Amino acid sequence: SQKMENSVWTSEKVVLSPYKDIEVPKLTVDQYTFRNLDKWASKTAVVCGLTNRSYTYEQVYKNSRIFAVNLRKKFNIKDGDTIAVLLPNIPEYPIITFGILAAGGVVTTMNPIYTAYEIERQILLSDTSLIITNEDLVPKVKEALTLAKKEFPIISLNITQSPTEGTISYKELVEDNHANLSVLNEVNRSYNDIALLPFSSGTTGLPKGVQLTNRNIVSNCEQQNTEIRQYEYSTESHQDSTLVILPMFHSYGLSSCMLHKLSVGLRLVTLPKFQPDTLLNALLVHRPQLLYLAPPMILFLGSYPQVTAKHLENVTCVTSGAAPLPSADIQRLYEKAERDIPFCQGYGMTEASPAVSATRKGEKTSENVGYALPNISLRIVDADMKNLGPGEVGELLVKGPNVMKGYLKNPQANSEVFVDEDWLRTGDLAKIDETGLITISDRLKELIKVKGYQVAPAELENVLKEHPAVLDAAVIGIPDPVTGERPIGFVVFKPGVKATDTEIIEFASKRVAPYKKIQQITFLNEIPKNATGKILRKSLKEKFCK
Ligand code: AMP
Repeated sequence: SQKMENSVWTSEKVVLSPYKDIEVPKLTVDQYTFRNLDKWASKTAVVCGLTNRSYTYEQVYKNSRIFAVNLRKKFNIKDGDTIAVLLPNIPEYPIITFGILAAGGVVTTMNPIYTAYEIERQILLSDTSLIITNEDLVPKVKEALTLAKKEFPIISLNITQSPTEGTISYKELVEDNHANLSVLNEVNRSYNDIALLPFSSGTTGLPKGVQLTNRNIVSNCEQQNTEIRQYEYSTESHQDSTLVILPMFHSYGLSSCMLHKLSVGLRLVTLPKFQPDTLLNALLVHRPQLLYLAPPMILFLGSYPQVTAKHLENVTCVTSGAAPLPSADIQRLYEKAERDIPFCQGYGMTEASPAVSATRKGEKTSENVGYALPNISLRIVDADMKNLGPGEVGELLVKGPNVMKGYLKNPQANSEVFVDEDWLRTGDLAKIDETGLITISDRLKELIKVKGYQVAPAELENVLKEHPAVLDAAVIGIPDPVTGERPIGFVVFKPGVKATDTEIIEFASKRVAPYKKIQQITFLNEIPKNATGKILRKSLKEKFCK
């Protein structure tokens, strides 16, 4: 392992970052990203790996400002209003994100494969007042608005077609030569205001709005701009590039791949979804240096017959995060690449903007998740929140400028997730050695991760309970060699009614995105619970998942 030398444990058993503290600029995310615009204004900021549609930094900046003016002028967006983005990874995504921020708005991101029910819930919880989506998704958005009993403007990207009825064309809002940019002088957003509102279920319950401030995001970008950086890029050409195949609606794609990389002048190569041919083609044509991937994609690159060393020739660093990566999978990738391709594993969570730790340059295995980024302190605690020492396994707590302000309008969840005021509970079991090196041993929280995506058991349990024959339900995750985990369900029938497992599985899959699909149902007489009514997931796991 690439160990550090300084001991970082304090006498109170708090683990300090082994890196020097950094100073976080007091800027909003959009001010921060464009603070060095002059240096690379004419360079490509983002290109679509599928269509080659691209924008320079100057275009991203200008279009986003025009978009912002129109959001305020035509839609009456005010400081702090929430705007939803329901889009795959497309080159307009950054323009839209910076546009909302420049208009003083808060960005809430949604998975484009969500069902109308999932969109409805997030619209209601986030108090969205406008949504930006693409042509294909408009019918689903309309359905969600009907379910939510809401009416608000839908801005639609109609790159190829003419606008759908009842929507406003994105094009007109960015290609407007008459926009009066001085309108943006009215915007009054500070560094401590909320910028992003992604959703996460955290340690327990349903998905919640994660309030990330400008400071949280800017900190997390700066925390990666230190000696921790795993890669070198040309400060001359500014055309070194990052593959953005991780979804931009998730904090990892949004913050680590998009916002951070644009803030240092790299070129993004976006891919709207994971497809073997298009991915391989993008690797050959766009030759990205940096690959940010989730474990199933690393497994794919290491094992898919058509992948050759040629596809990986230009890569200077492969970063994995979002879920545990089996060490064998990274070894396979080395074999494919015919070299020990520089590798980094990051660990983080949406609530931490998201990066908490990263392995050091030269690390070859995925057994550990490296060291805390600058300005971050950690604790390992037992069930009573008492600090444990080096090598002892307990729950990992995180503190730092990147830790969220809190869940939106949810004091209950906030009181559960924060300990001793500002220590965030990760819900992960970990140990930290004498030098500060972190190893994640297990997940304590109920969250299931399928291909790195969050699947909240509580959400699936609610869906199962909506079935007319179901009295009670439980959902747990079981290991899966390809997706990491998969959800399985347990169901108790109401007296006198029954249904088949296929009927129940189909009922549930209509309501949730495909990756949340319950793979198997077991019928029980009773769901095992403790005295306070909490589902005993561990006992279900032990009994049914051997
Ligand atoms: P999310 O908020 O969707 O990013 O999910 C965060 C959770 O993903 C963490 O609390 C961990 O349970 C898991 N996770 C993220 N990165 C890693 C990693 N490198 N190794 C193991 N688990 C991880």
